[in-house]
Amino acid sequence: MPPAPARRKAGRHRGEGQWAAGHFTPLNGNEQTKKDDDGLNVRTRIETIYAHRGFESIDGADLRGRMRWWGLYTQRKPGISGGKTAVLEPEELDDEFFMLRVRIDGGRLTTEQLRVIGDISQEFARGTADITDRQNVQFHWIRIEDMPEIWRRLEGVGLSTTEACGDTPRVILGSPVAGIAADEIIDGTPAIEEINRRVVGNPAYSNLPRKFKTAVSGSPLLDVAHEINDVAFVGVEHPEHGPGFDVWVGGALSTNPKLGVRLGAWVPVEEVADVHEGVTGIFRDYGYRRLRNRARLKFLVADWGPEKFRQVLEDEYLGRKMLDGPAPKQPAQQWRDHIGVHEQKDGRYYVGFAPRVGRVDGTTLSKVADLAEAHGSGRVRTTVEQKMLVLDVEQDQVESLREGLEALDLTTRPSVFRRGTMACTGIEFCKLAIVETKGRGSWLIDELERRLPGFDQPVTINLNGCPNSCARIQVADIGLKGQLVTDASGNQVEGYQVHLGGSLGMEPGFGRKVRGLKVTAEELPDYIERVLRAFQAQREDGERFAQ
Ligand code: SF4
Repeated sequence: MPPAPARRKAGRHRGEGQWAAGHFTPLNGNEQTKKDDDGLNVRTRIETIYAHRGFESIDGADLRGRMRWWGLYTQRKPGISGGKTAVLEPEELDDEFFMLRVRIDGGRLTTEQLRVIGDISQEFARGTADITDRQNVQFHWIRIEDMPEIWRRLEGVGLSTTEACGDTPRVILGSPVAGIAADEIIDGTPAIEEINRRVVGNPAYSNLPRKFKTAVSGSPLLDVAHEINDVAFVGVEHPEHGPGFDVWVGGALSTNPKLGVRLGAWVPVEEVADVHEGVTGIFRDYGYRRLRNRARLKFLVADWGPEKFRQVLEDEYLGRKMLDGPAPKQPAQQWRDHIGVHEQKDGRYYVGFAPRVGRVDGTTLSKVADLAEAHGSGRVRTTVEQKMLVLDVEQDQVESLREGLEALDLTTRPSVFRRGTMACTGIEFCKLAIVETKGRGSWLIDELERRLPGFDQPVTINLNGCPNSCARIQVADIGLKGQLVTDASGNQVEGYQVHLGGSLGMEPGFGRKVRGLKVTAEELPDYIERVLRAFQAQREDGERFAQ
């Protein structure tokens, strides 16, 4: 275990609540809760007390704080409108049921694991099982009484909910085609496994200033949204040392979005976990803890700049210099989701398919497991676009698999709208939500497919239920931020603030908030149809929506 942060004299940054400035006295309620007891310890109380005595027995600080360290959030009480989100006390929004997030590092699943997820969904989660845009699976309607059995089943097949939420090292994103893609620069899987082994569930890193998101991909498609992670490792070819990773820090969206910056350092795969642990340590020790809305790593990176960040990392955490390295190249194609049929480097194929806005259910996932076993080797992947892949399919099995997936409404030939639309959890279950998202996203796909059947330009449409940007609205072609708006009759109704022209890649940018443009939910298909028809009419050859 690495040493605890050195206690130093309080310095210039004392006001930000940094441990490295000697500021160990908690400056807000969240910091106090974490100091009172490590979030990881709540597991024992769930198994020995709460699961036996029920929801009412749960301590308030555990319920709204430490439960997250094990992937549990209370879900929103049904029937409370978005207008009440900000005015009610948190406990008035709490249902007695939980959302449970299962971490799927690298998006890697076996069919055995997928079947267990499907069974848990059907037995304990009323059939719910969403694929999130961080490659996780999310259940709803979970009762605290069922958690010991759910953990027993998940952990029995090597799955975990450890630090799936909370101020912790969250799931490690990975390329869904790591180790199999013909165009891969480097396989990041060993690095993901080593990072997981070192930091996840390790009390040395279980009290970070806020959530801490990691991404590792050696795919030239830049397929893990590395630009908006706290720390990311992106595959590059070093002219002298060969394949390795370019290091990025300080990306995150939410209400004060920032894109990650390059440290200009090249790291071989066997050193990725060292660098990751160093960056995690910097965040723990130097991260801002005074204000929750200034606590993500992006604020420290913005204040220090990449040069100072790299120097502190090298001098205080690694004890060595890193090699300089090149930047990744802009991918040749805009879609980064691996949808469709693609040849693997071993001559077999992987098949990517598109659920609607990540919404599947336990029965469907069990059937996907059956199909993947019958047609492949039993390996399945989730993507950061709320999509899924079946790996290792022989050529003569591809069409049969496609047909089986189509029968489940999991198409491998989605329209651009099915392919490019994502939605966060929204008001159905999320306590912070103001508007509906999943059902509306699905409805929007149907409407746009009907209205614009020939539209074939890549376009991303991301719906959020509130300003928090879990569905990455600022980097979508059309980003829709949920809020209440006034309709033509003067009524407050569900609607969206529109952001246009965001993008990821090596020329990333945030969408422009279209000043004053708020669209009611009902008007959404009309508005998007108008925007896309105008783009189609005016675009020049090769022009992307974001340009
Ligand atoms: Fe909930 Fe808001 Fe995140 Fe959507 S963006 S899941 S509504 S917090």
